[in-house]
Amino acid sequence: MDEAVMHSLMVDLHCDGERQGPGGKEQTSLALKLSGIDPESNVEVADIGCGTGASTLVLADKLPKARITAVDLFPEFLKVLEDGAREAACSDRVLPTEGSMEALPFADESLDLIWSEGAVYNMGFAKGVESWRRFLRPGGVLAVSEITWLHPNPPDDIKQFWETEYPEIATASKKITILEGIGYDLLGYLVLPPECWIENYYRPTEARISDFLRRNAGKPEADELVEMERQEASMYERYRAIYSYGFYVARRR
Ligand code: SAH
Repeated sequence: MDEAVMHSLMVDLHCDGERQGPGGKEQTSLALKLSGIDPESNVEVADIGCGTGASTLVLADKLPKARITAVDLFPEFLKVLEDGAREAACSDRVLPTEGSMEALPFADESLDLIWSEGAVYNMGFAKGVESWRRFLRPGGVLAVSEITWLHPNPPDDIKQFWETEYPEIATASKKITILEGIGYDLLGYLVLPPECWIENYYRPTEARISDFLRRNAGKPEADELVEMERQEASMYERYRAIYSYGFYVARRR
C-alpha cells in the first residue's frame, strides 16, 4: 500500500472530525486537574499530535495564560485548529506547528506541560515518553493517553489483533513501570470510558464515510481504509471491557 496515498485519505476522512482519536473534553479536563497545574499560571505547553485540536482548545480554555504549541504532521489538521483558535479568541497563544513528534522544535527544559492524546503510538510509547522528557523542566508534567489492556489476560482474537496493530499495548501497571523507570513519578491515571470511543469518535467517523467514499470513488485504498476503521470499531464494541485508552499523568523527576 502506498503510504502517501493512505496518509492523504486519512486526512480526507478525519479532517472534518472534531477529534481524530478516542477522547473527550471531560477527560482532558480531568487529566489537567490531575496534573496539579495552577490554572492561572503562565505555563509553556506542547500538545503533540494535536490533530484538529480537540484537546488543544480545552487546554487553552482551562489555562487562560498558557502558551500552547500544537504540533502535528499534517497541515490540513492544523488549518482547522487555526480556525478554531481564532473562533475561540486564543490565536495569540495557540501556535499550530507543522512537524514530527520525533523531531520536536523545543529547547531542553523549556516546557511546563507536555500533552498528547491518542498519538504517541505513532512513535511508540516508551520511545516517545523517553525522548520528550528532556523538553520538560524538572517538575514539569507529561499527560499522555495510550492504548492499554484493562485486563491481564485478553481473549486470543483481540490479543492477536492488537499485537499485530501495536505490539506495545500493555496493562497500566506496565506502562507506569516504564514511566517510573525513565524518570517520571505518576500523578494520576484514568481510563477513557466507552462514550469517548463511540459517541465522540467512531460514530462521527462512520457518519462521514459515505461522503468520503463518494469523493474517493475508484480508489481501492479508500475502501481499505474504511474496512480498517470499521474492523477496529467492531473490535472495540466487542471488547470494550478489555482495552481502552489509559490517560497517564506524570511529573518529571
Ligand atoms: N490528539 C488528537 C489527534 C489524535 S490522532 C485527538 O485526540 O483528536 C493522532 C494524530 O497524530 C494525528 O493528528 C496525526 O496526524 C498525528 N501524527 C501521526 N504521526 C505523527 C508524527 N510523526 N508527528 C506528529 N504528529 C503525528
